Amino acid sequence: MIGRIVFTNVNVIDGTGGVTHTTDVIVNGSSIETVGPSNSAGSADAAPAVVRTIDGHGGWLMPGLINCHDHLCNKWLRTTPANDYQSARLQRRHSSPGTHALEAAGNAVWELCQGVTTVRELGGPGIAIGQEMFTNVDVRDAIESGRIAGPRVIASRLIIAMTGGHGTPWYGVREADGPDEVRQAVREQLKGGADCIKIMSTAGLANYPHESPDTDEYTFEELSAGADEAYRFNKLITTHAMSDSAVRRAVRAGIDTIEHAFLATTKGIEAMADGGVSFVPTARVAWRMARNSPPALAELLESAGHRYRVLEAVELGVPVGIGTDSRFTVLEEMETLLEYGVPVDTVLQGATGIAARICGLADSGVIAPGKRADLLLLRTNPLQGLRSAFEGLELVVKAGEIVVASDLSDIPLRPLRPSAPLT
Ligand SMILES: [Zn+2]
Repeated sequence: MIGRIVFTNVNVIDGTGGVTHTTDVIVNGSSIETVGPSNSAGSADAAPAVVRTIDGHGGWLMPGLINCHDHLCNKWLRTTPANDYQSARLQRRHSSPGTHALEAAGNAVWELCQGVTTVRELGGPGIAIGQEMFTNVDVRDAIESGRIAGPRVIASRLIIAMTGGHGTPWYGVREADGPDEVRQAVREQLKGGADCIKIMSTAGLANYPHESPDTDEYTFEELSAGADEAYRFNKLITTHAMSDSAVRRAVRAGIDTIEHAFLATTKGIEAMADGGVSFVPTARVAWRMARNSPPALAELLESAGHRYRVLEAVELGVPVGIGTDSRFTVLEEMETLLEYGVPVDTVLQGATGIAARICGLADSGVIAPGKRADLLLLRTNPLQGLRSAFEGLELVVKAGEIVVASDLSDIPLRPLRPSAPLT
C-alpha cells in the first residue's frame, strides 16, 4: 500500500535548475503533493492515509534519474575486454531467452539501486538464431505489474534498421527497406506495445571494421516515413546516427532525438538546434572507444572532437540527455559530461528534467506539486560532488513507494521487495 510520505529538513534540487534549502516535501500516493515549509506533523495527522515522516537531516532530495538510452540485456559488456566484443556478442546469440531475461531483470534492479527510476530501453536482446525472443516490452510489463523490481521502462521494442544494418546480428532488429516497409515496421512495433521508436541511421562502432560508423544507412525517404508514422501515432522516434550527414538528414526527416553523433560537426549540432531536436551523446562510449579501438577507428573518433560537439549543443540550447548505452552507469555518463566541461547543474538536468522531456514524460523528472514522486534522498549535495553524493544515496522512491533503502538511511535495510512498501 502506498501512503503519504513527509520529507522534512531537506534541500531540494528540482530538476529544472532550481534549488530550495531546508524545506519539506510531501508525497501523497504516487505524486508529489507540496513542496515548501509545512507543519508536516499537523497535515500528516489530518490525512487518512498511512504516513511516514522522514527527517532528511539536511540531506538532498532530487528527482529519480532517467537513463535516456539503455540496453538492459547488454550490461554484461561491462566486463568484456574491447578486443573481445565481436566474438563475445556472436557467442551471446546462443544464450537462451531465459538467460537474457534474467540478466535484464537483474540489471533493472542494479540500476534502480543506483537511483535510476526510469530507463528508455532502446533495443535488445538479440534475435536468437533467426527467431524473435522476448523484447523490452516484456521487461517493461513485468516491472509495471510488480512481478519484478526495476525502473519504469520506456520500451522501443525491436530496433528498425536496413537489411544487414547496424544492430544486426546482435540486437533485436526488424530489418526493413524502403519507405513503405519502414512504415510497416513502425506499425508492427506500435502493435507490439512500443512506447517509442528507435531507428538506425548509420552503421556503428561495435562491428568495426565490418561496418564503419561513417557509413550512412537509411535514406531521407526511409527516415521520413518512419518519423511520419511515429508522429501520426503521437510517439517519439529516436535515431542512432554517427556521421554529420546522417545527423542533418535525420533532423530534416523529423526525427525527435539524435543518439551518439560521434562524428558530427558543428553544422550537425546547429541543425539540431534549428530543428528543435534533442541529443543523447552517450559520451562515455565515445570516450572509451577512442581509447580501446583499433588505431584507425580510435583516430577517427579522436579527430571528430565529440566533446566539443556536446559543449556546442549545450551552448546552443539543445536539450542534452544522459544515456548510458550498453555498459555504463548514469553516474559514469554524468561524470564524463562533467569532464567534457558541461556545468554540473546542466548535467543533472540531463538526467532529470531535460531527460523527461526527451523521453516524452511530462509527469516526471521534476520536483513540483502534481509530478510523479520519483525521488532520491542523498546525504550530500550532488552539485558539489556527483560521485560522493551518489555513494551516499539513502533512499529511492519510485511513484511514491520506497523501493530502495540503503543502510545509510534511518529506515532499516530490507531485502528489495517489488511492489511491497517498507512498513
Ligand atoms: Zn544503444
